[in-house]
Amino acid sequence: MSGSADTPRCRSCGGQDLSVFLSLGDMPLSDGLLAAEDLVREEPRYPLDVAFCPDCTLAQILKTVPPEELFGADYPYFSSFTDALLRHSAANVAARIEEQRLDGRSLVVELASNDGYLLQYYRERGIPVLGIDPAPGPVAAARARGIETLQAFFGRDLAAQLAAQGRRADVIHANNVLAHVADTNGFVAGIGTLLAQNGVAVIEAPYVKELIDHGQFDTIYHEHLCYFSVTALARLFQRHGLSLNRVEPLEIHGGSLRLFVGRQPQADRSVAEYLQAERQAGLDRLEYYVGFSERVGRIRSGLLALLGRLKREGARIAGYGAAAKGTILLNFAGIGREVLEFVADRNVHKQGRYVPGVRLPIVSPQRILEEQPDYLLILPWNFKEEIMEQQAEFRRRGGRFIVPVPAPAIL
Ligand SMILES: [Zn+2]
Repeated sequence: MSGSADTPRCRSCGGQDLSVFLSLGDMPLSDGLLAAEDLVREEPRYPLDVAFCPDCTLAQILKTVPPEELFGADYPYFSSFTDALLRHSAANVAARIEEQRLDGRSLVVELASNDGYLLQYYRERGIPVLGIDPAPGPVAAARARGIETLQAFFGRDLAAQLAAQGRRADVIHANNVLAHVADTNGFVAGIGTLLAQNGVAVIEAPYVKELIDHGQFDTIYHEHLCYFSVTALARLFQRHGLSLNRVEPLEIHGGSLRLFVGRQPQADRSVAEYLQAERQAGLDRLEYYVGFSERVGRIRSGLLALLGRLKREGARIAGYGAAAKGTILLNFAGIGREVLEFVADRNVHKQGRYVPGVRLPIVSPQRILEEQPDYLLILPWNFKEEIMEQQAEFRRRGGRFIVPVPAPAIL
């Protein structure tokens, strides 16, 4: 795949030998929930092809949808709506305050700070914070709770502006955003500029090994441009004079990495252990990725067989959680109103809207008990424990849960 002017270039290293290992087809935007008036027209669809770069080992999608289409005024995700995420954030903050000995003279910056779900815990402790996020709705919510927030895309330029104002960060948080930015190198270069000399950037990103090993194909969507291994990340940071110094595994979001990055090379053994384990597992080679497409096909056919059998037995099935991964799963498998009666979601900003593509109506969770379907298909399977706990009454009345990934199963 090299030579022509149209040859896609690696988002990280610029290499031109990308190999596509999975094609999910043309998919609607996963977070582009539809209002009733949108239903009269077709929504845009874009190809979802995932490729591997043999030069720097980065897995990535080829198509970049312009950010203004992805993160417009209707961007519906408000972080504070999941309890697990809040607990995770509070613990993260407590650990950083301790480790970095933060106080009232420190500065903590979060990139993609959303509604201030994380920075609020620093603020409670009297530590100055600055949020940066491009989405107007969440930014307004953050400001309403008193968290200074810039509505902007972060990159080289903004980092240079802040540094020129004398603002350097002792801690930079970037949770689930590095994989989403179109200018990967500009974003990392900006972190290098904004970080204080002894500061630490604490970056959380989904781990490509979890994606591949556990069949999590529904975490592939247009917002999510890169699928990182530690090997690929270490090379990316190094290119910008930063050192990956520590790696921690995280359970949230179905298996993620927390990466500690600084200006000084102080790598502890976790980095070497990850790099070695990745070499042994083959994450730095194309062969590791090529069997994935076939496994994804088996998940789809298994889920369709399970739901089809239940429907033939007369079961009533609804979905739970209008998450981005639900959009991908439902559209890739072709599961619409003939199978699911509705999708319930606790987020009031999503209620009254429709899942893109398959156009399932999103309703309040109250509907679950009002209508008592036989099964709930849990779409955000990474929060399945929390969802089953919330829906204990549904289960007490005889309802059952289905999870699609890593393999379709009734719980
Ligand atoms: Zn590359």
